[in-house]
This record gives sequence, C-alpha cells and structure tokens, in this order.
Amino acid sequence: MKIGLEVHVYLATRCKLFCRCRADFLASPRPNARICPICSGQPGAKPLAPNAAAFESGVRLARALGMDLRPRARVMRKHYFYPDSPANYQRTGEPVATGGSLAGVPLTELHVEEDPGAYDAEAGLVDYDRAGAPLVELVTEPAIRDPAHARRFLQELRLVLGYLGVHRDAAGLKADCNASLAGGARVEVKNVHGARNVERALEAEIARQRGVIASGGAVLRETRGFDDATGRTVALREKETEADYRHLPDPDVAPVDLAALARRLAPEEAPLARRARLAALAGVDEAAASVLVEERALADAFERAAALAPPALAFGFVARDVRAEIEYRKTPLTEALVSPEDVALLVEALGAARITPQVATRLLRQGFDRGGLAGALAEEAGRSGPAEGALAAAAREAMAANPKAVADWRAGKATAVNFLVGQAMRRLAGRADANALRAAVEAALRESD
Ligand SMILES: [Zn+2]
Repeated sequence: MKIGLEVHVYLATRCKLFCRCRADFLASPRPNARICPICSGQPGAKPLAPNAAAFESGVRLARALGMDLRPRARVMRKHYFYPDSPANYQRTGEPVATGGSLAGVPLTELHVEEDPGAYDAEAGLVDYDRAGAPLVELVTEPAIRDPAHARRFLQELRLVLGYLGVHRDAAGLKADCNASLAGGARVEVKNVHGARNVERALEAEIARQRGVIASGGAVLRETRGFDDATGRTVALREKETEADYRHLPDPDVAPVDLAALARRLAPEEAPLARRARLAALAGVDEAAASVLVEERALADAFERAAALAPPALAFGFVARDVRAEIEYRKTPLTEALVSPEDVALLVEALGAARITPQVATRLLRQGFDRGGLAGALAEEAGRSGPAEGALAAAAREAMAANPKAVADWRAGKATAVNFLVGQAMRRLAGRADANALRAAVEAALRESD
C-alpha cells in the first residue's frame, strides 16, 4: 500500500496574493463582492507584487517542519481552461522549501499559490471571491503507512498550523489523497475535507481497489472524489483531460527573494520541538502535551506558570481549566481577555495556597467574561489572606532558615516565637493575619520538637 497526500491550507492573510482584495472569502456578503480586475482576470490587468505575508507564512511553516528553504521562488503560470480561472492560468509559486518530515512522513515540497474561483457547473455561475486567495500546498512522499497514519499526519499538521497561527482555520484542510496497491495504478481522490474524512476516503478507496483486484480486474489510473454521506469514492469527470499545464514563469511578477524574507523573520522554536520540551517539563508524554501547542499563547501560559509553581500543577491548570474555557467559548486564548501572564499569576497563587482550586476556577471564568483577572486575584488574596497550607509552609521555611531561633525556643526562650513569626510574615509579603500565623508557627515548632 502506498499513500501520499497533497494538502491545501488557506493562509490567514488580510489580502489576496496579487491584489489588495480581502482574502477572507468566507466572510464575503455575496458572490463576487471581493473582486477587482486583477483577481477576476480582466484583460490588461497586471498583478501587484506577491503578498509578502503569504510567503512569510510559507517560510515559517517550512521552518517549523524542518524543511530546507530555497533561496528564491519564481511565480509560474499554470495554464488550464475552465470557468473558475478567468485568466486561463493559475499563478503558483515554485517550492519555498523541500525535505523535512512530519509524523514520520518525509515531505517532498511546500509552495504558495493562488486559489481559483468557485464554479457551479449546474447553474453555470462563477464566484471569484476565492480567486487569488493564498494557499499553501504541502506534498508528502508516498510513505504514509495506512489511512490512520494519514489522519495522524493531518492532526499534527493542524497543530503546527494552529501554533504558528498562519492558516484560516474555518476554511479547514483539504487534501488530494493518492493511493495504490502493489501492481495497481495510482488513484487520486481529490478534494477531501478534514483529517477524519481523509482517513475514511483512503479506507474506502483501498477497499475498492482490493475488491477490483480480487475479482480479477485491474485498477485504472484515475481521479476520484469522496462522497462523505455514503463514505464511498466515486469516479469524477475530469475537468481537463490528461492536463498539460505548460508551466511558464509569469513575466509580470518578479521572483520572491525567500532568503531575504527568512533573514527578516525572527528565529522561533519549532512547535513540535517546544511540545517535546514542555512535555518533559510537565512530566507528561508528548500526546498529552499536544494541547499546550494548539496555540502559542497556551504554551506561553504554561511555561510562565511552570516557572512560578510546580510544573505538574501548572500543566493541570492550563490543560484542563484554561482549555475548557477556550473550548466552551470557542475563543482562542490570543483573543481572550485573559493573558498568559494572568494564567501564570493564578497558578502561582494556587501553588502558594493563597487561593483554593475552586477560587482559581471562579477567577479564571470571571477573567474570560470581563477581564481584569490580575486585579481580582490581588483583591481575593488580600481579602481571604493566605490559606492555612501557605501559613504552615511559611512557618516551616522560617524555621529551616533560622535554626538558632528554633534552638532558642527549645531552650525555653518563648520570645523566639516572635522572631519566627516575623520571618514567616516576610515570606508571605505581610498578607497573613498575625494571630493565625503565630498559631501556625507554634504548631510547627511543637510538631518539630
Ligand atoms: Zn482582487
């Protein structure tokens, strides 16, 4: 069994690739509301310089996947005749990078290209809102072991994309899936949406090919589609017969200087390397730590919190409580009224037992609802004072740091308690009730006696 994928991902840039029209076609109020002479291919319209933000996203993604960057990429015209392509060619960049791997699958190449429009063949209508929207196409080697492996590959890719924040998540991932069995021709199942459907489409297609071979037939080289209602692949009418795309460099567009672009980008830790590092810090396996890299702000929140409190506590709070709020509200942390710093402060207060887990959860919700988490936390900690556990911990620390005062107390010098209470109070930044703290110090002294 040989499986390879060509994955298409919409980039979350503001503008299209060669014009200033808005790229967010999903938010368009009606068909053809976001078009201009360039992206609707009108005679004489010349493209603007390639949208640098789109190529930047391509470079960041390639780096995150450990790919080898190319120094430059020309923009090519890929010719075909169909109503979704008004200029009769699609502009597609040469590879930004080659090599690298993801989920154990070697990668062939990554390039940036423009999307064609949408053509409704039955109604005979075209919508060019999508035309010119920037896409990344990521091509794998045919080294995917089975349909479940293809699904895992796409889930890992989605994680990397979410962390980098470069894709238009609502538009989903689309993949062309190539599958062949030993001795059979390669069949392409086009345009399958989402990781789960890719797995289903490949399962169905491989079962179909096995059936053809078992009944003495031959698998033909063809392009098929996937019907997610029936779970079957279906033969497609080709929009062009055995295409000769005649790739030519576009004379209207200068090559993209990828090396210069890469130099301008700040270096960043690759998301999956960061996941491995944070997993070790939290003491969990990488699968469990995946939630931390769903977006960069979550990883930041955990890492800041783990510097102020036990990492296991920080992990539990971020992976469970913070993420539950994000899921419930369907708002990424980046767009929430709670910052990674807020989360770290909350976890620190929890770790120092200044607030209970119930209070931490309440404050977090309040923060997501109306912001101001740091202020609310200070108020809460001030009102209730440090929790009992924190008093006892501060008492023990004061004793450990002042063995002479402890020895004095044992020798019968009762006033040594005052000194230890003062030391413990300093550790609690003066927030504790003095009588309660004295009781805690006395209890700790008796316990150690
Ligand atoms: Zn346009």
